[in-house]
Parts: sequence; structure tokens; C-alpha cells
Amino acid sequence: MGFEIHRSDGVTHTILGAIGDKTGIDIRQLEVLEGVHEVVRISEPYKLASRSFKREDTVIQAKDLLIGGREVVVAAGPCAVESKEQIMVIAEAVKRSGAKILRGGAFKPRTSPYSFQGLGLEGLKLLREAADSFGLLAVTEVIDVNHIPVVEQYTDILQVGARNMQNFQLVRELGKVAKPVLLKRGMSATIKEWLMASEYILSGRNNNVILCERGIRTFENYTRNTLDISAVPVIKKLSHLPIFTDPSHGTGIRDKVIPMARASIAAGADGIIVEVHHDPEHAKSDGAQSLFPDQFNDMMKELRIIAKAVGRYIV
Ligand code: PEP
Ligand code: MN
Repeated sequence: MGFEIHRSDGVTHTILGAIGDKTGIDIRQLEVLEGVHEVVRISEPYKLASRSFKREDTVIQAKDLLIGGREVVVAAGPCAVESKEQIMVIAEAVKRSGAKILRGGAFKPRTSPYSFQGLGLEGLKLLREAADSFGLLAVTEVIDVNHIPVVEQYTDILQVGARNMQNFQLVRELGKVAKPVLLKRGMSATIKEWLMASEYILSGRNNNVILCERGIRTFENYTRNTLDISAVPVIKKLSHLPIFTDPSHGTGIRDKVIPMARASIAAGADGIIVEVHHDPEHAKSDGAQSLFPDQFNDMMKELRIIAKAVGRYIV
């Protein structure tokens, strides 16, 4: 019939998502076929990301880590990789406190062209080395289609930043990548626009998308952004994809990060991504919102209790 088919093998049933022009198609022709339990029209514009397409939660496997299962996963590290010593010290500290993923930007999307732009390829190599030294996975941002091959080579999860959520060429290309993508919400994007951006990746047959709420722009300017915690239960209802929050960029203020991290886990987030720096005063970017390693360690203790209260766990 000319549809493009997206197959999803679940525990109880297999779903074939048919995408294409449905005019002139009578779904009863499909309903009578042997093995067909039901045919459902998906009315949402985001088809593959929707709960109507796939009822069960998506659990993403990255190496030996499961994201979106019962375990709440914590990614932590500096805003940017600055030097070997810096990333090694921070990696060791976050690993000891229970982080599973090391974050750190190598290609930084800065608002000002005069700000630190990241170490580039050298940063990617250092991030990989630090992650491997302490048994962590690595996540880093990709800001350019041309960087995809090299970022894919050195990282386990590719991050799309808020400023690039609607870089449709970039998200479309990430649909061809074999590694998970952490898709940040654009700072002025609606939830629908965010899910439509994920659809670009999913329709390229990369099913491994993790959504990340990182704060939106509102009239409030006390905080850097307004972390939309309600996006967590909203996404849980609309989509099967795992969702993280980023309380660091979501608030921009160090002492607001921990309360919002707690709230995120309580609201049902599958994980968080947090900035940690051993010497935030001298950080090349986002020092003011970076936790000290000791604060991160205390936060992890609290998050373990909250995770347990909502039927989850943090190792
Ligand atoms: C980041 O995580 O380093 C980052 C730049 O975040 P965002 O794209 O959410 O601003
Ligand atoms: Mn940052």
C-alpha cells in the first residue's frame, strides 16, 4: 500500500507503524488479516514518539546501562572539558558518588562568539579517556552535522542542545546514528514541537531518544530558565520515550540545583544531567551553576531515598 513500516517488538505484541498517505485506505482490510489484533489510527502529529504507537516505556541500552527502566540514571560532569586534570578529577568524584554517565562539552554552543568554544576533538578524547578510566559512559553535545562521525566515535550518547533542537538537518542525520541521542528541549519550544523534533530522529530508525527538559524561557528572570517539572508527567503520558531533566541549566544557580533535582525524581524523571566542577570559580563556563563534588555526593544520597519512595532506585 506504499506505507513506510516501523517495527517495534514488544513483550506482549509486535507493532507495525505504517507511515504514509492513508487516503483511500480502508483499515478494515488490515483488521481482517491473520495475526492482526487491532488497527489504531494515531491522531497525534508525532507518530513514532507517541504512546498510542507504543504503549510500553522505551528502555534504552547503552553498553551495560539501561535508561528508562526502574533505575534512575545520573549523568554528571563539568559544563565543558577544560583539561586532562580537570576532567579526571571530576570523573573520579562523580563516579564515587554514583553517577553512571560523564558529561562534558567539547564543542560548546555559546551565546557569545567570544566565549570559550570548547576544546573540540581534544576535548572528546579527554572525555573518553576519563570515562573509560572510571567505568563511566560519556555524553557530549554535537552541534554540527559534519561533527557527527567524530562525536559518535568518542561518545556513548550524543546530546542535542537546546539551541539546536530545531536544527532539522542535524536531528534528521542523528536518525541514522547507532547510538542514543539525548534531545534537549528548545528554550522556547512547546512540548509538541519537542516531540516533533524527536520524530525526526525516530523516523530515521534511531529508536533511542532520551528527552531532556532543561528549562524554558519565561517572564521570570530570577533564575536563568524556568525548569518545567510538569513536562515530566506530561511526556510520560504522551510518549514512551525516557525523560531526563537538567536542573543545572534549568535554574542557573548552584543552590537551586539540588531542590530541582529532588523534584525531578519525585515527578518521575528517568534521570538527570547535572553540572559538577571541583573548582567552579575558575570554570571556563557555567561555574555559577556547577555543584561542588561534596554537594553532588550529598544530593545523590537524598535522591536514593526519593527514588525508592517512587518505586525506583539509584545504585
Ligand atoms: C549543556 O548541557 O552543556 C548545554 C549547553 O545545555 P543546553 O543546550 O540545555 O543549554
Ligand atoms: Mn553548561
